[in-house]
Amino acid sequence: MTTSTPPIQEHWLALLQENGYRVTGPRRSVVEIVANHHRALNPYQVFELARQRYPRLGLVTVYRTLEKLEALGLIERVHQPHGCHAYLPAAVGHQHLLLCQGCGNAEYFSGDDLDDLIGRIAARTGYQIKEHWLQLFGLCTACRAGAQ
Ligand SMILES: [Zn+2]
Ligand SMILES: [Zn+2]
Repeated sequence: MTTSTPPIQEHWLALLQENGYRVTGPRRSVVEIVANHHRALNPYQVFELARQRYPRLGLVTVYRTLEKLEALGLIERVHQPHGCHAYLPAAVGHQHLLLCQGCGNAEYFSGDDLDDLIGRIAARTGYQIKEHWLQLFGLCTACRAGAQ
């Protein structure tokens, strides 16, 4: 099977360029890794994976590229139970995140029954609540199987 270039990374690279960010080999390798993983990756994991494609990559380039992608709304920073940050391709539209604590696999899901809860919190606090962000942690089926 030949490797065809997935359109998502080309879209991201084009957006980076439109926003005045020069796309160099190292930056491209970072974009390729993050765009094609549905797993939350921390900067060091991105570095390790991208370095296999571009051995002269520096960690600073990883951090800067991730920052830029986040600023453009292409990736989302997610919180992990042990406190360090990881990144994922951003959801399209309003979605909630389910993250595996074992392997970092991520799924987005839509639909929620938060209206009642949000209504009660608004009534109790007097806030006008405009947005919410929900992230659930758990173990995916593969990790559950491995844990038994
Ligand atoms: Zn898992
Ligand atoms: Zn929601």
